Amino acid sequence: MQIRLQFFDEEEEVLLLDKDSPLHNLVPLRTLQEIRAAIETIDVFTVPIPSRSANAVLSSLRAIVPTSLQHLRRLVKPCYIPDSLVDFLAIPSTPPEENILYLLVCPVTDISEENLSNFLRELPAFSTTGTIPRIMTVAVPSSQPISAAQATEWSAKYWPAVYKRGNPYGPHPSIVSQTLRGLVDPENHILLAKRVATEAASSGEGLGFGAVIVDPQTGQILAAAGDARLRCNEKGWGNPLDHAAMRAIDMVAQRRLGRAQNVRPDNKVEVWNGIYLEDEGASGKIVVKVNGNSNIKNEDKDGNANGENGKEVDDRKDDGYLCHNLQVYLSHEPCVMCSMALLHSRVGSVVFGMRMTRTGALSAEEGGRQMGLFWRPELNWKFVCWQWKASPGEEMESHENVDA
Ligand SMILES: [Zn+2]
Repeated sequence: MQIRLQFFDEEEEVLLLDKDSPLHNLVPLRTLQEIRAAIETIDVFTVPIPSRSANAVLSSLRAIVPTSLQHLRRLVKPCYIPDSLVDFLAIPSTPPEENILYLLVCPVTDISEENLSNFLRELPAFSTTGTIPRIMTVAVPSSQPISAAQATEWSAKYWPAVYKRGNPYGPHPSIVSQTLRGLVDPENHILLAKRVATEAASSGEGLGFGAVIVDPQTGQILAAAGDARLRCNEKGWGNPLDHAAMRAIDMVAQRRLGRAQNVRPDNKVEVWNGIYLEDEGASGKIVVKVNGNSNIKNEDKDGNANGENGKEVDDRKDDGYLCHNLQVYLSHEPCVMCSMALLHSRVGSVVFGMRMTRTGALSAEEGGRQMGLFWRPELNWKFVCWQWKASPGEEMESHENVDA
């Protein structure tokens, strides 16, 4: 059996997943604009007009008010008016002799009710009978719907709405679909981020936060880092900026510069340049193991990477951005500093585990800081972001007042 993921546009390319697919744990974050678009309404005028005059009224109207509200039906038959408005608009239960349409005029801010009334009085449709239609005010969504499902919901609740393919307030459904399909083993990588977090906390060198960066081209783990803000230098000072995501980004940088640190097989937090977990001894390979699965690295025990002469090849593209289109897995929603560092490094996607309502900067949902930094029109980079919903009992400790 296959079921559809809720966030894909049915008219677009749709990714079908097996019922048991772990990808169902991935909940796409809504952008700040999407959330605002979902809740903001404006007051608009509506008037009932004879259907035979509809086109003439509409074209006359265009001369006095700007054309807007293109995401809503301008002329609506009574049978398509939402139930919640039927009484308010005094729609008769039996159709009148003359067909009536409800015209959505314009926002109340575009024309006064008096001017609208005077305008209608002069139109041939009403001047001959001497009666002008009743002008009413209804609340409608101010922005266009972001999915066919939302258009259907609004049509039943506010006013018949039109969904235009695409999403002006966030990633296009095909981008979400494509990025989701490109995630490399997200379940194991989010588990690894959580294990790194657990190790960081138990080591006493940091708080329980972890980060993993993966190259989607090769499937290789480029960095795995725990928080280390409690680790003291020779002067006995910790570094409050040593957040897991910052350290992981730094590891990608160091790796690209060929500055491998020495292998520390006895150190459970950081083995080689952030590559964490077990040293396989005689094989000279560092192995990242998660639930029995291995991701075998090619570094030797002296920390040499797989480029020539122990130097990692700097494989950045001409754009020079450090983490361009890499995938990032975090045990917790990152703070503002880490979110902006990820953005400036131009990561391709982020999956985080625990939402941090007091300090997290990626989610735009209510109940948090509502920053939604992963997709803001005023910033020069955007990436797709999901929260990995843990099964009950498998959630990480939240550390809710702390910046992750
Ligand atoms: Zn942080």
